[in-house]
Amino acid sequence: MLKFIILAVVGFILYKLLINDQKKKKDMTIKEQEKMAANGIMVKDPVCGTYVDKNSDIRVKEQDKVHCFCSYDCRDKFIKRIGAEDVTDKDQ
Ligand SMILES: [Zn+2]
Repeated sequence: MLKFIILAVVGFILYKLLINDQKKKKDMTIKEQEKMAANGIMVKDPVCGTYVDKNSDIRVKEQDKVHCFCSYDCRDKFIKRIGAEDVTDKDQ
């Protein structure tokens, strides 16, 4: 019986540690993304606000500006919204 209680406690502690670790990692990622955005490495998806790689393949050209997107869904929404030119995959 005592063995079972110890196992349960150890399991609970491990579970808590894991949850905390994941939370920390998530906070870190958002901060890192904001940092990278500030440095011009990442750009913000104008549709959903997600940070995406500046060299993302999913992109749309609006006059002299190029917007990058996290997904084709976001790109399509943006194209519909502004009637922009699709430049995805053109440089490959
Ligand atoms: Zn998006």
